[in-house]
Amino acid sequence: MAAGRHMLLMLAAAILFSFTSSGKSHEEREPITRFKQYLRFNTAHPNPNYTAPVSFLISQAQSIGLQFKTLEFVPNKPILLLTWPGSDPSLPSILLNSHLDSVPAEPDKWSHPPFSAFHSPETGQIFARGSQDDKCIAIQYLEAIRNLILVKNFKPIRTVHVSCVPDEEIGGFDGMAKFVESNEFRELNVGFVMDEGQASTNDDFRVFYADRSPWHLIIRAKGAPGHGSRMFDNGAMENLMKSVEMITKFRESQFDVVKAGRAANSEVISVNPVYLKAGIPSPTGFVMNMQPSEAKAGFDVRLPPTADPDLIRRRIAEEWAPAIRNMSYEIIEKGPIRDYKGRPLMTLTDDSNPWWSVFKQAVTSAGGKLGKPEILASTTDARYMRQLGIPALGFSPMANTPILLHDHNEFLKDTVFLKGVEVYESVISSLSSFVEPSG
Ligand SMILES: [Zn+2]
Repeated sequence: MAAGRHMLLMLAAAILFSFTSSGKSHEEREPITRFKQYLRFNTAHPNPNYTAPVSFLISQAQSIGLQFKTLEFVPNKPILLLTWPGSDPSLPSILLNSHLDSVPAEPDKWSHPPFSAFHSPETGQIFARGSQDDKCIAIQYLEAIRNLILVKNFKPIRTVHVSCVPDEEIGGFDGMAKFVESNEFRELNVGFVMDEGQASTNDDFRVFYADRSPWHLIIRAKGAPGHGSRMFDNGAMENLMKSVEMITKFRESQFDVVKAGRAANSEVISVNPVYLKAGIPSPTGFVMNMQPSEAKAGFDVRLPPTADPDLIRRRIAEEWAPAIRNMSYEIIEKGPIRDYKGRPLMTLTDDSNPWWSVFKQAVTSAGGKLGKPEILASTTDARYMRQLGIPALGFSPMANTPILLHDHNEFLKDTVFLKGVEVYESVISSLSSFVEPSG
């Protein structure tokens, strides 16, 4: 009985100890506190609050001693630019980019409110919209720079800029797209860019050297209307369905390559039907005995940088929506496919790109491992900078983390976040002290 009580006491002490020690590691580490503060700003579309997080980031920059300015190319769409001057400002600079906004969240589908930054004392998981995409990297950049300045007394040779931009999640047209066209951007003389990546479910960090370019494709068919009982050629529905069949075949040909393991999802052209519109509405649904004279369909098309856009345009004009079948089409290009010199929008990941070697080495020396460089299946703001011919890598150091961007219950573990700060310390110090051997 006495021994039993003693054991119980020890157990209680052990629980108490583990509770306070874990409580400490979760609550009292300032980088985590600052990360949670940033996560609590509701920057979700359609009405992102940009003012408050920008003020917060400015106060962070001030506490480290960084220069700051905000630019506004479109009213109420601020771009925050923080600068850490290097000892040789004539050298091309390093730009660390992240976006301020996030996609919406449905609070009732979440186990914790999406802008509460709930931090589980048991698991260390921090739940918030934006915790992976991509508020983590903004704070990790700043925490890494803070440590380099205040703890390690590190002095960069190249100037380091941190940009926090609006509207990435809705295409970046009023954000990064405007920024890269500005004199302010040109004056930064950016030589290399780090932008967001994605979580990795294993030990390796993922790194992205290109995005796929999205096209919105709408095909329209016209034809003579007719009685539902009549068989005739060139009806709008028949024409549209022929096209849908052809597009489906093309889609399968691409998907088969993925299924056979010969390419990643992001390395092929995806064509996914997103809407079909046809029929003559009636009070109870649709008129059933009449063939409509118009029909259309919409497709989400994604082109990897290796695809030839002219070839796809020709395929659309000749096969998917040919005028001889009374069809027309519209392609809405949601961003660039080639850079200003007409080259595919991708950053080289071999030794011919010295930035790549420096980056890779820096990750390794921080104890990290990179997976095989990938093309991102979707898009980021990096494409706008690649369009200018600036090498840009997508990288969010989140290993052993489920991929939860845009998903319910998006979270990042505190230890993963802190490891990321360490990785960026190595990456930022290496990139900013890298000087190309002359001659
Ligand atoms: Zn993002």
